[in-house]
Formats: sequence, C-alpha cells, structure tokens
Amino acid sequence: MMKFTDRKVIVTGGTRGIGKAIATGFAAAGAQVILTGRDATTAQAIAAELDGDVQGMELDVSSGESVQKFFAEALERLGGLDILVANAGITRDKLVMALKDEDWDDVLGTNLRGAFLCAREAIRPMIRNRGGRIIGVTSVIGLTGNPGQGNYAASKAGLIGLIKSLAQEVASRNITVNAVAPGMIETDMSANLPEKAREAIASRIPAGRAGSAQEVASAVMFLASDDASYITGEVLRVDGGLAC
Ligand code: NDP
Repeated sequence: MMKFTDRKVIVTGGTRGIGKAIATGFAAAGAQVILTGRDATTAQAIAAELDGDVQGMELDVSSGESVQKFFAEALERLGGLDILVANAGITRDKLVMALKDEDWDDVLGTNLRGAFLCAREAIRPMIRNRGGRIIGVTSVIGLTGNPGQGNYAASKAGLIGLIKSLAQEVASRNITVNAVAPGMIETDMSANLPEKAREAIASRIPAGRAGSAQEVASAVMFLASDDASYITGEVLRVDGGLAC
C-alpha cells in the first residue's frame, strides 16, 4: 500500500462517490485529510465515518468567497498543503439546443471555474512547501464529447487545458499537476443517467463493466505519490478502455 504519512491533503467534493473514496484512501494511508461538501454538517458526518485523520468542512467551489474562506481556514488547520484533489463536479445534461444559460453557467462554474479557484489557492502554500501535487478529476467525456453533455464536456475539456498549462507554470517548483479521466464509474452521478444512456455506454466498455470509485482513487493516489515525481501535465484515463 502507498504511504502518505502526515501528508496534508484536501479533497473537494468528498461527501460521496469518487471524492469519498479518495479521502478514504488517503486517510487509510496515513495522511491528514480535509474533505469538503456544500453542507458543513454532512461533510463533518462523512469525515467522522472514516478511519484516520479526516476533517469535514464546508466549501462551495462555485463561490469565490467560499473558496477563499475555506482555504484560509483549511491551511491553518493542516499547517500547509501537500496534495489538492479538485474532484467536485456536477452534471446538468441536455442537448445543446435545449441548454439554458444557467445549465451552462452552473456546470462550468463548478467543474471548471471551481477547479481553477481551488488550484489558484493551492499554489502559494505548495511553493512555500517546496513541492506539491494537484490532481484534477476530469472525465473521458472531456476527451470525446457526448451528446446531451455539451456543457459537461466543455467543462472537463477546459479542465484539461487548465491542468496542462498550470503543470508547465509550476514544474520548476517541484509541483506536479495532473488529471484523471474516469469513464463510467458506479456513483450517484452515473446512477442519475437515464437507463438507456447508461446501457449504451456500458455496452461500449471493453472491460465489460463500470469502474468503482476505489479504482479512480488508486489512480489519484499514484499521481500524488513520490513514485509519480516525473509525471506532470498528464491525463490518466481510468475507463476500462472506453476512450482508447
Ligand atoms: P457525485 O455526484 O457522487 O459527488 C459529487 C461530489 O461533488 C459530492 O461530494 C458533492 O458534495 C460535491 N460537489 C458538487 N457541487 C459542489 C460544489 N459547488 N462545491 C463543492 N462540492 C461540490 O459525483 P461523482 O463522485 O460521480 O463524481 C466526482 C467527480 O468525478 C466529478 O468531477 C465528476 O464529474 C467526475 N466523474 C465522474 C464519473 C462517473 O461516472 N461517476 C465519470 C467521469 C468523471 P455535496 O453535494 O455534499 O456538496
């Protein structure tokens, strides 16, 4: 098992699904973890369920004010930051011709702007720390597009552009910036897809099954580990071959 003893980790959107699995994995590996959700009580309750050093805090990544307030408090609690996992994400699926302005703004505001706001806050403490890891959770949809997910695909493709740019900006500071691109993973988000859409995607997965949140967490932890010290600006698909 990978060791992250006393590493200081923030996981955005850690109350369920992939984020919760990532927080669980880091805590089990000895890290000091803060997981976040939009509701403080929920985030604290989930953190209390997990083994290890885990705190739950309120954060709405779509609000600049919330991001600022959160990072000020979280950095003080942790005493620095080694690893940021920008995982929080939402969908508002519709065909492009039916997308409302707010469907676009909500999805881009959370998935792309939210990741940007958090990454920006993470850089300074990592530079002070002489190193760090930033991992964004994008999606294979950001690589391939998907009918009914124009806003989501744009947000996830945008996130890849951000990750690759930032990777080049901070590489000399011993900070790596990478993304994982999950395919279809069993979580609340994929359960919300219409049955037909889910079956259509599932039938195209070469591995013949959806992935688990733990399988995504393993890839995130690898990218955050010392073993991945020379990997930066990479997008690692975790998709059973879906987007080969
Ligand atoms: P879930 O819907 O199960 O969980 C989403 C998480 O994000 C929750 O913890 C939620 O917390 C949090 N969140 C949502 N909006 C905000 C916000 N504005 N500020 C802070 N936190 C927020 O999703 P998954 O676990 O499935 O997805 C996690 C990530 O993985 C997302 O970025 C998603 O796009 C990506 N992904 C998922 C795939 C899948 O098949 N499931 C495939 C590819 C990528 P709360 O509601 O408590 O605020």
